[in-house]
Amino acid sequence: MNLIFLGPPGAGKGTQANLLSETLNIPQISTGDILRNSVRTGTPMGVRAKSYMDSGSLVPDEVVVGIVEERLQGADCSRGFILDGFPRTVAQADALDLMLTRLGKQIEHVLSMTVDDEELLTRIGGRRMCEKCGKGYHTLFDPPKITDHCDQCGSKLYQRDDDKVETMRKRLDEYYQKTAPLIQYYSQKELLRPIPGIGDIKDIQNRIVEVLKGS
Ligand code: ADP
Ligand code: AMP
Repeated sequence: MNLIFLGPPGAGKGTQANLLSETLNIPQISTGDILRNSVRTGTPMGVRAKSYMDSGSLVPDEVVVGIVEERLQGADCSRGFILDGFPRTVAQADALDLMLTRLGKQIEHVLSMTVDDEELLTRIGGRRMCEKCGKGYHTLFDPPKITDHCDQCGSKLYQRDDDKVETMRKRLDEYYQKTAPLIQYYSQKELLRPIPGIGDIKDIQNRIVEVLKGS
């Protein structure tokens, strides 16, 4: 199954994509995670992307399109994939369409997660990530068993620089300006599956499974 998770920062895309990736045994492709890795390891792409990410802006389309194009050719994508955080502009969605045509694949569902701004800000403010494996947590809603340490690998958790208050608003503005038009884009293609994003992580997971079952 080839899927896209669409939604504002903090909507729960990464959380749900991670769970679904385990259930369906297909890879989660998070452009945010790939970019953060590149920044950490100091690759030329990471050096280029850093200033955009630090300021809460989107990284230029050609950079992320290149990442996804390369990643989708991986052997592990042959049974399906979950795009998390891509596409984020109409130009990226058009580029994805072209690359999938070339690869003889198509998107089956766009899971569009909706959460109000107040809740998004609470979720982003409490988000913590594992510095080693990248697993996400929330200080209140999804805390680790041992404070500040990852359940999966035991490494330290950190707060992303772009999750600090000053940058959060900019990221939400970017979302409404550049990414929200994709709701209409995929609705016209009859691929949009709205998923109310408020509720327990487990309940939302069940909602997604039901939507996919009904397809
Ligand atoms: P996104 O990938 O859309 O930016 P995340 O999946 O990283 O969002 O979720 C943002 C934060 O909200 C994380 O700290 C996560 O643990 C938490 N979170 C995810 N889903 C829920 C939920 N249903 N209720 C409360 N908190 C949630
Ligand atoms: P995320 O982890 O999805 O919240 O993304 C973190 C940051 O990475 C974003 O604020 C952007 O700067 C950058 N980024 C991730 N995915 C994309 C994308 N598809 N297009 C442009 N920038 C992206």
